[in-house]
Amino acid sequence: MASLGANDVAENVCTTCYGGTSVVEAGFDGEKGGFFGHLWYYTDMSNCVFCKIVAGEIPSYKIYEDEKYLAFLDAFPKTTAQMLVIPKEHEEWVWDVPNLGEYYELVGKVARHVREVSGEPVRQMVYGFQVPHAHIQIRPGSVDDLKGEKMSGEEMAKIREKFRLA
Ligand SMILES: [Zn+2]
Repeated sequence: MASLGANDVAENVCTTCYGGTSVVEAGFDGEKGGFFGHLWYYTDMSNCVFCKIVAGEIPSYKIYEDEKYLAFLDAFPKTTAQMLVIPKEHEEWVWDVPNLGEYYELVGKVARHVREVSGEPVRQMVYGFQVPHAHIQIRPGSVDDLKGEKMSGEEMAKIREKFRLA
């Protein structure tokens, strides 16, 4: 992948999870009963997009950060302030994250903060397949009111200011 600029999320990449190379498109699989929408699945583990976000190689709008965890806005949200909470260390599956309880405590802290700021219920999703780096999605609101299209950097910056935690 070419390096990305500040407002540049690469073309021809996943519209849910930012990007990647060596991808295969997923879709609806009626036989298996799964809907995979417009997602891409990463097959190249050395090119983990979330590790690149942690390293600052791909820009993100950070809501919370400490030495072990990062919460950042999803650039393709279904609701305002949809975000992802990830461990900084690469681990494919949520349940393999060391100190899983600590990770979930942080997810709860971020989610309760988002609930307080938004005044809305907050949902969570644990998919586990779009990007092979453990992530828990926090989605404010009880209904999806956005289309999952790319949000402008200007809008995301405003949302970050409203929702940032510490
Ligand atoms: Zn990673």
